[in-house]
Amino acid sequence: MKLFYKCLLFYLIVFLARAQNDTPTNIILLIGDGMGLTQITSGMYANGNKTILENFENIGLAKTHSFKNLITDSAASGTAIACGEKTYNGVLGINHKNKSIPSIINYCSSYGYKTALLSTSSIIHATPASFYSNVDSRNEYENIALQLLQSEVNYFIGGGKKYFTKRKDKKNILVDNNPYFMVDNLKDFSVSESDKVGYLTYEKEPPKKSQGRTPSLPKMLSTLLNRFNEQNVPFFVMAEGSQIDWGGHANNTSYVISEFDEFEETIQIAYNFAIKNKNTLVIITADHETGGMTLSGGDISKKMVKSKFNTRGHSATMVPVFAYGPFSEKFRGIYENTAIFHKMKTAVSE
Ligand SMILES: [Zn+2]
Repeated sequence: MKLFYKCLLFYLIVFLARAQNDTPTNIILLIGDGMGLTQITSGMYANGNKTILENFENIGLAKTHSFKNLITDSAASGTAIACGEKTYNGVLGINHKNKSIPSIINYCSSYGYKTALLSTSSIIHATPASFYSNVDSRNEYENIALQLLQSEVNYFIGGGKKYFTKRKDKKNILVDNNPYFMVDNLKDFSVSESDKVGYLTYEKEPPKKSQGRTPSLPKMLSTLLNRFNEQNVPFFVMAEGSQIDWGGHANNTSYVISEFDEFEETIQIAYNFAIKNKNTLVIITADHETGGMTLSGGDISKKMVKSKFNTRGHSATMVPVFAYGPFSEKFRGIYENTAIFHKMKTAVSE
């Protein structure tokens, strides 16, 4: 009889351990385009010397160089993060041997995940496009738009409607054979029963936050997370704060800071969700730094920072990676940006 209870206890422990391992890990990947350490530091001091990123204890640094160039563009670095391989600048989802490669979206889909892409630029811009397209040039916007509609992505929100509706081939690909249920506001996005929902927020590129861009990235993310919560399925979402990069290109400190502010609110939404839903891994990183930005002065008590820029382009400095939740300790250390893909893959398959 004693043996019977011992066996029962043993099986119970195995069962519980399995049950725990069987809970798949949700992934929220937040990419601040062009968000180097100075962009974060500027935003932090301008916000009264605090940032939600202080809650993230697992921190690493990623090397951003592309296959041939020390200084990457968003296509090569997006591909590195999304697909796990270094490629040439300007190329999306194709490796240096000219082979199309699957992304973490494809990988997650094969594990029964729902997937989503959110962006404050157009959805066919390099960073989101690296998660679903395979093209020689990031400038093939109309081709990229077509590939989005043929992709495994479940939900997307971002600008660039004209690449779907006002095309050189005269087709309106939102009407012909479009598997996505298209909406034009977040309310319809949240109530739609469809498995594939798209929301194109602007005809071209969405405006700056300071010029009244809507919906905001945190609003997009919270709406999406509510949806996922109701569905009770594992999910992967990539949300991009696209215009931190554009502030850097413009060498405009207040542009950088206001875009970082919105990105910070987005991080807060993700963090709150991960606290309530323990099986959620949150990763925050950048594809590269933009502007060669340095903090050259300021006053903490006045929430004021001054900065200088070294370039109108990108720089080659490493970018920080912050992680919270299951598998977050794997993001410590210094590694290539391609490792982010492999670490996410581990979180999905283990
Ligand atoms: Zn850029």
